[in-house]
Amino acid sequence: MVRWMVAVLALAALPGPASAQRGITLLWTPARPIQGSLVRLVAVADSGATDSILAIRGDLAGEPLHFERAGTRRLVAYGGVPADWQANLKFPLVVQYATHVDTIRFEMPVYRAVFGSERLSVAPEFTEKPDSALQARIDHESRQIAVAWSRAHQTPRLWQGRFARPRTGRITSPFGTGREFNGIVQNRHLGLDFDGSVGDSITASSDGIVVLVGDFYYSGRCVFVDHGAGFSTAYLHMSEVLVAAGDTVKQGQLIGRVGATGRVTGPHLHWIAKYGRISVNPMSLLRLEIK
Ligand SMILES: [Zn+2]
Repeated sequence: MVRWMVAVLALAALPGPASAQRGITLLWTPARPIQGSLVRLVAVADSGATDSILAIRGDLAGEPLHFERAGTRRLVAYGGVPADWQANLKFPLVVQYATHVDTIRFEMPVYRAVFGSERLSVAPEFTEKPDSALQARIDHESRQIAVAWSRAHQTPRLWQGRFARPRTGRITSPFGTGREFNGIVQNRHLGLDFDGSVGDSITASSDGIVVLVGDFYYSGRCVFVDHGAGFSTAYLHMSEVLVAAGDTVKQGQLIGRVGATGRVTGPHLHWIAKYGRISVNPMSLLRLEIK
């Protein structure tokens, strides 16, 4: 059976808006999901329901959700809202009961994020059109990175509790800023920059597996960590990498040192948080309520 449900906006209440008919109620936090942020989804079986939920499957913004049981009547999952998402998120959830399967369609409002803009100057070779050999290198590196992001959906959840900052230093550039390189708008800043001097320590945000280590044209020396259940983080522009692909890392473990490798204006850590292929504001990862 297919039902359509449209959520009613909560008036600044927590947790998020919900809709319920017979079956399940879906709540989300934060109550007003914004562009480029993570969302926590809680599916609660209605009190009158006699048939228990065995599993829930579905996608949010094109990325699979990993619902986990969190009590007898509740399942919890996390999803990402892309920074450039311009509409409400519509998604069906397939709810599997002992005796039947039900498909329920939800609609989640997405609120506009306020992103700034900034101008940067870098060496001209980073803004000129790459020649074919360089373009081949960049394409090869971006394919390796794309494979790294997708791996996190195949890995079971390795993180426990909250994610932590990879550095204690000051944040020098927020997530989402539109960037002009030498006067030309090239992209949006889809990470968070931390201040640092060459050699300062960088630590893993949470438990995971090092899925990729590179020395890439744009990213410089970099480490990609798969935390499982869709989550990854990456640490760019290092002077020194202290782990290898395949290594298991623990939250707070030293994985590398601040540097100025790749396309940079000076030493710093560019920190990326991903749900599947979706870049989210790492601050939303740090703030996320984790069961
Ligand atoms: Zn950055």
